[in-house]
Order: sequence, then C-alpha cells, then structure tokens
Amino acid sequence: GGAAEPPPKLVLDLERLSQVPPEKAGPLQRYAATIQSQRGDYNGKVLSIRQDDLRTLAVIYDQSPSVLTEHLISWGVLDADARRAVQQHEEN
Ligand code: C2E
Ligand code: C2E
Ligand code: C2E
Repeated sequence: GGAAEPPPKLVLDLERLSQVPPEKAGPLQRYAATIQSQRGDYNGKVLSIRQDDLRTLAVIYDQSPSVLTEHLISWGVLDADARRAVQQHEEN
C-alpha cells in the first residue's frame, strides 16, 4: 500500500487467546490482562494493542516480531492482516 495508508491494527482475539495452553500463551495472556486493567476495558471480545507492544512481546518471547506474529496467527489470536502491520513496522 501507499505511504498514506494507515497500518492495519493489531487486534487480539481474547476468546481464542483464552483457549491457547498457558505454557505457550501465558506471557501474552498476562500482558493483555494488564492492558485491560490499565484501560478498565474488561468486556471486550477483542483488544486493540499498540505496535510497540508487539515489539515488547517479541523481546519477552525471545523471537523476532514477525516470527511471533506467525505464532499468534497460527493460534488464531491475530488475523493474517497483522502480517502487514509488522512488515510496515520493521521497514522503519
Ligand atoms: P497513557 O499512555 O498516558 O495514555 C493516556 C490516555 O490517552 C489513555 O487512557 C487513552 O485514553 C489515550 N491514548 C493513549 N494512546 C492511545 C492510542 O493509541 N489510542 C487511543 N484510542 N487512545 C490512546 P487509558 O486508555 O485509560 O490508558 C491508561 C494508561 O494505561 C495509558 O496511559 C498507558 O500507560 C496504559 N495503557 C493502556 N493501553 C495500553 C496499551 O495498549 N499498551 C501500553 N503499553 N500501555 C497501555
Ligand atoms: P474498529 O476499530 O474496527 O473496532 C470494531 C469493534 O471492535 C469495536 O466497536 C469494538 O467492539 C471492538 N474493539 C476493537 N478494539 C477493541 C478494544 O481494544 N477493546 C474492546 N473492548 N473492544 C474493541 P466500537 O467500540 O463500537 O467502535 C467502532 C469503531 O469506532 C471502531 O472500529 C473505530 O473505528 C472507532 N473507535 C472506537 N474506539 C476507538 C478508539 O479508541 N480509537 C479510535 N481511533 N477509533 C475508535
Ligand atoms: P487508534 O486509537 O486508532 O490509534 C492509532 C494510532 O494513532 C496509534 O497506534 C498511535 O500511533 C496513534 N495514537 C492515537 N492516540 C494516541 C495518543 O494519545 N498518543 C500517541 N502518542 N499516539 C496516539 P498504536 O499505538 O499502534 O495503537 C493501536 C491501537 O491500540 C489504537 O488505535 C487503540 O485502538 C489501541 N490503543 C493503544 N494504546 C491505547 C491506550 O492507551 N488506550 C486505549 N484505550 N487504546 C489504546
């Protein structure tokens, strides 16, 4: 897309996230719960997160943002559109 096009949003599917085994998803589950608590946003089925938060999560998971994104897509927690958000970010 062109430079004027906003990057796609990173939208976590919280229902799917709750179904991923905690030995895989635990850090992300705790991170998302913290954001919900900071916002007072408890009732959503989805949670929009910051691009920067994916970078932080990549450090926590010791993976590159794009590899982590592939895992989250395979778990059904992010949709495939998120790939473009990460690619745009890593070009910067
Ligand atoms: P903050 O970063 O100082 O943001 C203060 C308020 O500005 C937020 O209150 C929200 O109303 C607004 N705001 C800041 N950035 C954005 C944004 O990208 N989009 C929208 N729609 N609004 C934005 P809120 O939501 O009650 O959050 C309170 C504090 O909780 C934030 O203070 C921040 O420290 C933390 N927080 C909330 N959500 C996130 C998140 O997704 N990631 C991170 N890293 N921190 C978050
Ligand atoms: P959208 O961003 O496409 O979000 C569609 C719906 O997904 C939202 O409907 C809401 O039900 C859900 N959703 C997305 N992110 C979150 C989240 O972090 N927490 C929760 N609890 N739900 C989420 P809603 O609320 O009726 O908003 C409709 C549209 O209004 C949004 O479409 C967006 O275009 C705009 N909007 C709402 N809140 C914000 C905001 O904080 N910042 C910006 N820039 N737009 C917003
Ligand atoms: P959004 O609200 O549509 O914001 C889109 C982008 O605009 C954000 O991408 C950020 O780059 C910029 N932006 C919006 N509001 C602010 C602000 O108050 N301060 C700053 N410094 N930048 C702002 P980003 O950071 O990737 O966030 C993506 C989405 O995550 C936001 O979409 C919003 O739905 C959610 N989000 C992020 N931080 C917060 C927050 O603190 N509170 C809430 N309620 N939602 C947040």
